[in-house]
Amino acid sequence: MQKEGIIIKTTGSQYTVRCDDGERIICTIKGNLRLKDYKSTNPVAVGDKVVFEIFEDGTGRIIKIHDRHNCIVRRSTKLSKISHILASNVDQIFLIVTVAFPRTSTGFIDRFLVASESFQIPTILVFNKIDIYEESLQAFHDELKQVYEKIGYTCLETSALTGQGIEEMRNRMKNKINAFAGHSGVGKSALANALDNNLNLKTGDISLVHLKGKHTTTFAEMFELSFGGFLIDTPGIKEFGMYNLKKEEIALFFPEMKALLPQCRFFNCTHVHEPGCAVKEALETGGIDPSRYQNYLNIISGQEMEDEEWQIR
Ligand code: GDP
Ligand code: ZN
Repeated sequence: MQKEGIIIKTTGSQYTVRCDDGERIICTIKGNLRLKDYKSTNPVAVGDKVVFEIFEDGTGRIIKIHDRHNCIVRRSTKLSKISHILASNVDQIFLIVTVAFPRTSTGFIDRFLVASESFQIPTILVFNKIDIYEESLQAFHDELKQVYEKIGYTCLETSALTGQGIEEMRNRMKNKINAFAGHSGVGKSALANALDNNLNLKTGDISLVHLKGKHTTTFAEMFELSFGGFLIDTPGIKEFGMYNLKKEEIALFFPEMKALLPQCRFFNCTHVHEPGCAVKEALETGGIDPSRYQNYLNIISGQEMEDEEWQIR
């Protein structure tokens, strides 16, 4: 007998598949499927939709992986050409940030957005810890929010402590495959708990979270949300971001720059030194935000970010 389902947990050689009716089956994978995708260390990832055959003992064997509509990929090791698929078919990423502590830099936000644009995953900015934004933080937050909303990103304001914004997040997450991303300590676990108190994830101070992050990377899981949908949980998976992007294509992942490209004199304008550049013109007239443009320059000049690491929850 054959059935279909979605991978909700991977542990190296075993995969937990959840069928539409909620039943969970532990599966192995057919040998030649393993070999097919030789460019990645793992043949299937959390979020993959699969067909499996079911045996009399109640276990299964995956025989087909449906085409992915997107996936998050990173290099399997620092210099490797082989990739590791972290998750597939992700409907949206919530990038959790805060202007309080630990404050998220716009450099980090913009690098992240380039990565998620390149993976074709819609990304929502969540400004958490809104309960502790005093006047000056609030003003800074309002400024940032305006920058990102203007170029099409949804910005939410939340507090895992007071519950502000939680209901709206829940409505957006319902029946979708969701991931939370952001630095340690911004409140990913606390938000997850506030959204669904069945999750009961450990929140902690930042140093503890760092230790927690040292776990194995072959383990990945999606939590089923009690209100419908999934939240990807891949503790310890850091060190990913932009994957295999050429310098010349980075501007295509800044939506406001991509929109102006047809008005640049050169079709392959990098918006740095070219004459007749619509992006630089817009920078003068306020159409392009200076901090976004500066972060763009930093990215294409290959400037390393000290806080490149982020986590996905
Ligand atoms: P994670 O590393 O992103 O999962 O962050 P945690 O969820 O562990 O939260 C880190 C710390 O920030 C904990 O001490 C939380 O209690 C605190 N925290 C999380 N969300 C909020 C919030 O909305 N407001 C305030 N004041 N503190 C928060
Ligand atoms: Zn240009």
